[in-house]
Amino acid sequence: MKNVLIVEDEKSIARFLQLELSHEGYNCDIAYDGEEGLSKILSNTADIVILDIMLPKMNGMQVCEEARKKGVDIPIIMLTARDDVSDKVGGFDVGADDYMTKPFAIEELIARMKVALKKSSKANESSGDENILRAGKLTLDLNRFEASYGSDVLNMTKKEMELLEYLMRNKNIALSREKIVEHIWGYDYEGETNVTDVYIRYLRSKIDNVYNTSYFRTVRGIGYMFEYKE
Ligand code: CA
Repeated sequence: MKNVLIVEDEKSIARFLQLELSHEGYNCDIAYDGEEGLSKILSNTADIVILDIMLPKMNGMQVCEEARKKGVDIPIIMLTARDDVSDKVGGFDVGADDYMTKPFAIEELIARMKVALKKSSKANESSGDENILRAGKLTLDLNRFEASYGSDVLNMTKKEMELLEYLMRNKNIALSREKIVEHIWGYDYEGETNVTDVYIRYLRSKIDNVYNTSYFRTVRGIGYMFEYKE
């Protein structure tokens, strides 16, 4: 269930929004002035904010601007009684996602909330994806520095994970041994030249040989390729 914070000083409107949105399945909280609104936004419990512009103590623009400055990235939909273009422009300037002029149809607000929530969850997914690499049942979670196959957590060293990350990020691309060495061990690496072969063998022994997969393909005369077709 999504949490909506309604920041609106007009009690009848706040109440109406609460009733309608609760009916739609949202969990509602209300703040009646700008300062209370900002502190509730900063407490990080809301998934989306409906923010009136004309508010006591601190107006909606200031609340929105302050929240964005503090790194709040949830959707904020601004409301105003005035059909004023300068409000609209100002709202987007301070980082609002959308804008509605009162009076509005509740259905339209709900539709816009859904769009804004969808957009923000997509943005979160893609930012999360950068650190979580997947190929079938194989997952490399760089937030936790943990590799797993299905529900098995793999026992891997840091270097093995770095190599796995490099290979997975270049899925289905043949990488030369030189490139791999440079990337994982650095330009000035002066150890064994077959270090890549050794580490690929480690990865195979921990993944391919155990789970009967064939992620680590030898590309003859070149090097290796992490192979996975969706
Ligand atoms: Ca107001």
